[in-house]
Amino acid sequence: MNEEIHEITVTDEFKICPLCGYKDGFHSAFKKGLGTTKWLFVCPSCHAVFDIGYSVAAVGADSNS
Ligand SMILES: [Zn+2]
Repeated sequence: MNEEIHEITVTDEFKICPLCGYKDGFHSAFKKGLGTTKWLFVCPSCHAVFDIGYSVAAVGADSNS
């Protein structure tokens, strides 16, 4: 994934694309890092990638039984 990642701060909700105005929500994408996986959001309309500060535990780092 080589797209530019736009880091934004969410105040109330994150539903409307700040770049193109698409207002029906986002696709999810995940990018593995050191010990964590970034949870990214991709606009279905303009395909901009956003990082709103979410991350999830790296797959395999915790038992999920
Ligand atoms: Zn957009």
